[in-house]
Amino acid sequence: MSKTAIITGSGRGIGAAIAKKLAKNGFNIVINELSEQAGEQTAEECRALGVKAGVYAWDVSDYSQCEEMVKKIKDEFGTIDVLVNNAGITRDGLLLRMSEENYDDVIRINQKSVFNMTKFVGAVMLRQKSGSIVNLASVAGLYGNPGQMNYSASKGAVISMTKTSAKELGSRGIRVNAVAPGFISTPMTDKLTDEQKNAIMGQIAMKRYGTAEEVANVVAFLCGEESSYVTGQVIEISGGLSM
Ligand code: NAD
Repeated sequence: MSKTAIITGSGRGIGAAIAKKLAKNGFNIVINELSEQAGEQTAEECRALGVKAGVYAWDVSDYSQCEEMVKKIKDEFGTIDVLVNNAGITRDGLLLRMSEENYDDVIRINQKSVFNMTKFVGAVMLRQKSGSIVNLASVAGLYGNPGQMNYSASKGAVISMTKTSAKELGSRGIRVNAVAPGFISTPMTDKLTDEQKNAIMGQIAMKRYGTAEEVANVVAFLCGEESSYVTGQVIEISGGLSM
């Protein structure tokens, strides 16, 4: 039986690149998005690579929806071998101007979603005694970033959640790792001003942004057998942003 991978928020950007890379590696693909329409193009591109792929629309920050959808996916695909917690948002603003709503939304979507999905998919993987989970953190979660109190807090938490779940699940054959991308060209970073982009470029050793495919390559390594003795780690993908 083919292996199955769930990639949250995979209708576009980094998530879509991960879905296509894992499809190339032979995984059946579960594309999660907020609407079916948002995920359909990625699903078609995965199917063109010869695997089964479906779009499942739900909000990963909603605990009950995650429980219900993981059960449905397990029933339909038979097995869940890989989970990539990729869905995320930014609501940037300086601390003193940041609204409570913008703080809470980012924590709920970027952080609580990882709890929800790791809990319900982790239960399936525990019964299988195998699985690999990869969380999308960020350099902001490692080093902090002005204007991102909410986002850096959520991604710092994702890093500690990665380590805790790796420790809890490791003895049952389940690995949990994180990647911490720097600045990757996607719709999320298109929103930055030229001034912000220039300031960031000055700090990158390789003097260019990364691509979604460059993140997907590292995530695919962590999902697959070639990283079979790697767990609880955070791999930075930033072109040498911090050295
Ligand atoms: P993106 O905004 O292009 O894509 C994110 C996707 O997640 C969207 O398609 C969106 O619809 C979906 N999504 C948002 N909230 C959701 C929810 N509640 N339930 C289900 N789906 C939801 O972002 P991206 O740049 O591809 O980023 C992907 C991940 O990588 C995020 O976790 C982000 O924080 C992280 N990251 C990105 C960068 C970067 O430079 N782009 C850097 C570091 C980390």
